[in-house]
Amino acid sequence: MSSFSISLIHGDGIGPEVNTQAVRVLQAIGERFGHDFTFQEYLAGGAAIDATGVPLPEDTITGVKASDALLFGAIGGPQWEDMPHHLKPEAGLLQLRSQLGAFANLRPAVVYDELVDASTLKPEVVRGTDIMVVRELTGGIYFGEPRGVSGSGDGRVGSNTMVYSVEEIRRIAQVAFTTAQLRSKRLCSVDKANVLDVSQLWREVVSEMAADYPDVELSHMYVDNAAMQLVRRPTQFDVIVTGNLFGDILSDAASMLTGSIGMLASAAVGGPVGFFEPIHGSAPDIAGKGIANPLAAIASAGMLLRYGLNCETEADAVEQAIRAVLRDGLRSADMAGPGVQALSTQDMGDAVIARLG
Ligand code: NAD
Repeated sequence: MSSFSISLIHGDGIGPEVNTQAVRVLQAIGERFGHDFTFQEYLAGGAAIDATGVPLPEDTITGVKASDALLFGAIGGPQWEDMPHHLKPEAGLLQLRSQLGAFANLRPAVVYDELVDASTLKPEVVRGTDIMVVRELTGGIYFGEPRGVSGSGDGRVGSNTMVYSVEEIRRIAQVAFTTAQLRSKRLCSVDKANVLDVSQLWREVVSEMAADYPDVELSHMYVDNAAMQLVRRPTQFDVIVTGNLFGDILSDAASMLTGSIGMLASAAVGGPVGFFEPIHGSAPDIAGKGIANPLAAIASAGMLLRYGLNCETEADAVEQAIRAVLRDGLRSADMAGPGVQALSTQDMGDAVIARLG
């Protein structure tokens, strides 16, 4: 039996509702596969502000760092919007991400056959889409120096610096290559090497590393073409690796191919403790009604198993159970079309657990 300690930050709004279902799924996985999961809850976001006055209490940081992985619900809500910037729930989330040193953001975009009509693109274009965007999260133009606005009046000049060191490129490329090894073994590195020097270095370093991963087929694409190809023929991609700015834009575009925010999970890895969360927010408009879609949170638990704990078979079981739920026509309110009976958050959790194989 393996033992794992999992930190839980349920957060605000629908966070606790969906995270509870993800925890139930992990408990069921523990029973089926003989793992001992210990769960410890911590506060962050609005709930932490209400209880302690700050969005990220010290014991949350210490506790999460001492665990094997973090399962995060969602934070935020209108009641905290007028707080000073550094005391807002979102400030706690950003602080936590940086404390965990997670430099690689994994954002899957999966179009389930059963939900193919939810996309704004034609079903024949998106059917079969299963992309993982690996975005560099702690470097590039969002952090590069020098930056700022200088001069005055009409003479002002604004600038940012896109900078990547060989080491930064190597470590994100390594995450991408190993992620590709766990999937269809195709990796597309996206850059702007025809214009940017920083991208030329990026391409050179990623190309050099390909020799260490002979089972992965590496290709390169300019970011403008990648944006076009994502909406033209998304099925051509398996894993995409790219820098912070390009990844920010492409991962949002890729996730919207699926058309369903309640389905999408994400991970931030690379630091000592992986951070796993749905991409949606705390959805205050539906909080407390028991109707939120828990599948993104449950898929985040699947990513936690795969990328946080190296439990491949268990992660496969979670993903297959989600697919089985959809195949069996079970839907939460956000996915149920006209005439389809919507299941509650808890019933969707039950349905996944019943199909864990
Ligand atoms: P949101 O993702 O919370 O909601 C957008 C829309 O999608 C809403 O109509 C909501 O009801 C729906 N939705 C989202 N998740 C759903 C689910 N699981 N099931 C069914 N429907 C779902 O985005 P928002 O309204 O812009 O933000 C609300 C709050 O969440 C804000 O305070 C924002 O700052 C915060 N937020 C937090 C995170 C995070 O914790 N990582 C991410 C995004 C937004």
